[in-house]
Parts: sequence; C-alpha cells; structure tokens
Amino acid sequence: MTDCDLIVVGGGPAGLAHAFWRRREQPDLKVKVVEAADRVGGWLQTTSQDGFQLEHGPQGFRADDSTDAFLRAVEIHDEVVTCAPSAQRRFVVRRGKLHELPAKPGALLRSQLVSMPAKIRLMLEGRVRSTSDVGESVAAFVGRRFGRAAVPVAEAMMHGIFAGDAHQLEVAATLPLATDIEQRYGSMLRGMRARARERAAAGAAARPAVCTFDGGMHRSAQAVADLLGDAVHTDARVHSIVRTDAGYTARCEGLELRAPELCVTTPPGPAAKLLRPLDRALGDCLAEIPTVSAVSCYLGFEKAAVPESVEGFGFLAPQGELGSVLGSIYTSSVFPHQAPDGYELFRVMSGGHAYPHEIDRPDDELLHQAGEVLRELLGIDHPPAFRFVSRARAAIPQYVRGHTARMRTISARLTQHPGLSLMGSGYKKISVVGQWANEGSRP
Ligand SMILES: Cc1cc2nc3c(=O)[nH]c(=O)nc-3n(C[C@H](O)[C@H](O)[C@H](O)COP(=O)(O)OP(=O)(O)OC[C@H]3O[C@@H](n4cnc5c(N)ncnc54)[C@H](O)[C@@H]3O)c2cc1C
Repeated sequence: MTDCDLIVVGGGPAGLAHAFWRRREQPDLKVKVVEAADRVGGWLQTTSQDGFQLEHGPQGFRADDSTDAFLRAVEIHDEVVTCAPSAQRRFVVRRGKLHELPAKPGALLRSQLVSMPAKIRLMLEGRVRSTSDVGESVAAFVGRRFGRAAVPVAEAMMHGIFAGDAHQLEVAATLPLATDIEQRYGSMLRGMRARARERAAAGAAARPAVCTFDGGMHRSAQAVADLLGDAVHTDARVHSIVRTDAGYTARCEGLELRAPELCVTTPPGPAAKLLRPLDRALGDCLAEIPTVSAVSCYLGFEKAAVPESVEGFGFLAPQGELGSVLGSIYTSSVFPHQAPDGYELFRVMSGGHAYPHEIDRPDDELLHQAGEVLRELLGIDHPPAFRFVSRARAAIPQYVRGHTARMRTISARLTQHPGLSLMGSGYKKISVVGQWANEGSRP
C-alpha cells in the first residue's frame, strides 16, 4: 500500500492537468496519476509514418484566455505552431457541393448558403425576445434565434464538430457561450459585436483559428508527464475504488494507493463502473452520459494530384449529405509540417451518433469511402500515396438534453463523498483546452 495526498485516475489531458495544477499550488503535495494505457495523453496521441504526422484525437487546439497560462507553466509556449492563415476558411456541404461558411455574420448576406428571405430573418435576430428554456437543443436554439433556414448549418456544425445530433445536444451545455451571450445581450448578433469591441478595447490580439505543437498534440501531455516525473504510473488500470475512514483506496494490478483525495478523470462510462460500488445513484447518473465513436481516415497525395484551389481548414457535412462521413480536415493545408515535402495530407472523419457501426467497418471500405468523398468534392482523382486508419471508440461525450440537470445531480452526490472529484471532457468542457484549464471541467 502506498500512501499519498491525491490519487488521479486517468492520465489524459484532464488527469495530467489536474495533477500538475494541484502540485503547482502545493509543491510538496504527494500526487499519484494512474493511467491504464502504456503511455500518457488519453486522446492526445500523435504518431509518425512515412514522414506524415498523424493525430489520432484532436488535430489541434483553439487557444482561449486560459491557454497561455497553461502553456507557459508547462514551458511549451515556444513550441506552439499556429495554423496557416487560410485555415480561417471553412466549408459546409449542401446538396453535394462545398459552400464557404461566412467568417462573420455580415458575410452571410453575400453567401449562397441561404435564400434571401432566410437572410432577412437572420438579420431580425436582434428582435427575438425569448431566451433559452431548460434543456433546449442546439437546433431549437438556432431555429428560434435565426429562423428555420439556419438549422441545417447548426446540424452540420454539431455533426462535424461533435459527431452529434443538433436536435439532441443541449445548447446550454454544448455551447454555453451562446446562451451566456443571449442572457447578457438579448441577441447573438449584438452580443458578438459587443464582445469583439470589448476585446479590441482591451487590446486583445485576434487568436489563430487553431494551433498545435512541433511534435504534435501529444507533446503537451508528455511535457506535463515529464514535470510530474515519478508521480505518473502507466500500465496501471484502476479496477476498484474503496472508501475507507482515511479516504479512498484505488487498486490496480500490482499497485494499491491510499489517499484522502481522489479525482476520477476517466471518461464517464469507466467512471460509472468504478464509482457505482461507492454510490449507486452517482454511478447510474454517470452511465447516462452517452459517448460516440469516430473513425479518421488519413489519405496522402502527391501535391500535383491536388487542385490548387483546395485550401482552408476543411469541410463539415450535415447528417444525410455524405452518408456516414462527418467532414474532412485539410491537414497539411492547416499545418504544412504534417506532410513531407511534395505531399498533401487529408483526414476524413466518419461515424458519430447516427452511424455507431462505422467503427467496426474494415479499413479498406473506410479508405475507399474517404477517397470517393475527396474525389467528388475536391476533385482529387489520383490514388492516394499514403493511407492510414485510426479508430476512436466511445471517445466523444455528448452533452444531450438533460445534461445540465444531470450535472446538478452529480454535484449533489459528490457532496456526500468528501475528497472525491470528477474531471474530464464528459462533464463541462469538451475541448482539450477546457481540460488544461482544469477548473473548468469540474461538474
Ligand atoms: C477523434 C477525436 C478528435 C478530437 N478533436 C478535438 C479537437 O479538434 N479539439 C479539441 O479541443 N478536442 C478534440 N477532441 C477532444 C479531446 O480529445 C478531449 O477533450 C480530451 O482528450 C479529453 O481529455 P480527458 O482527459 O477528459 O479524457 P481522455 O483523453 O479520454 O483520457 C482519459 C484517460 O483515462 C484513462 N483511463 C480510462 N479508464 C481507466 C482506468 N480504469 N484506470 C486508469 N486510467 C483509465 C484512459 O486510458 C485515458 O488515458 C477530440 C477527441 C477525439 C476522440
């Protein structure tokens, strides 16, 4: 039995960041991070093959005001690589064709994405007096504020970004900034303009659309793990947690830890299994948070095979447009260092809530589908020179309707267990930046 002050279960970004910030507050705190896999990082997994840099999870991160503090504290701020300027351009598939998403609300007036009556309705958004009801979906929110014609854009974004269903995802939980702006300004358009003015007045520089590191996203996890040193144990799957008078005991194969504080940062499903013996209601509530799977097919082409017009971040596909395909990232257009000289790399993602069996399809089928989508939409006719498939099973939590209420129940249950906490993307912030910020991801 090893005694310590804090046990952190899970060595993904949430677990590593939690251990890191806690030890920074209290340098003599005895922390142990126990990670089931043979490496740290959770979905921050970067591999290299034939000169291509491949991300199995996040392609990058979208920095917010909390990110700089983390990057500086971990001393990796000078390894940050920002995206190419063209990555501001994003596209959406409508009736089999790509349309550029307007970067600003004003640009929507020039876009062919919506009809003239729909544009007029969009501009009347400021006159909508209602505010979000408890449990409102993203689709209902967007339809109420901007009109029905805007709903397909919301569907595409929720499908492509969260692999989810805009009609099921809860707006207050999935897009809390949107409901905050509505509450504060009474209008999304007014609120976005006011926020842009506030940022400009505060002298805040515009942030790049997306960033990564020279060594890819895993670099951030490795940097934190290096700072934590022998506090981190890999190949250590926690199979049971027991509450004792002194706090909690976590048991792994060949390792038993005891501490007054325990933070579970695994995805909600494994957390439910570990915590149900302590508190059945808590376990049941955690088990209700759904997760979906996604497949990434990487295709590399000789540069000459890719039309010059192909540049930008990539495209999102609304459900029903491209079968099981969620969208694509023009990987080397965003981060040129991710493909060797003379090549371009694309990542086509598929699966999500509507296609749960996608994850079990054979590689050849998935790669063929990805190649066809790039051929039809981008005009890439040549066979790929490089192919790679990565599967993310039960990896993306869905903040479906009822999530906010569920979080309240979870918080109430946790008050019955002093020293026990939950962190991670299953609860409050789905992005990796949310995990680095640490305090933002607690239910
Ligand atoms: C395909 C994909 C694309 C993504 N794209 C983006 C993006 O572009 N931008 C963005 O911001 N975010 C993105 N994300 C989300 C991002 O990856 C998450 O925010 C982040 O990984 C969540 O971190 P976490 O620590 O909560 O969970 P995880 O990364 O899931 O880590 C949890 C850890 O717990 C460990 N664990 C599980 N059970 C046990 C156990 N019993 N004992 C010990 N350890 C255990 C796991 O092995 C894992 O290492 C993406 C995710 C995926 C899957």
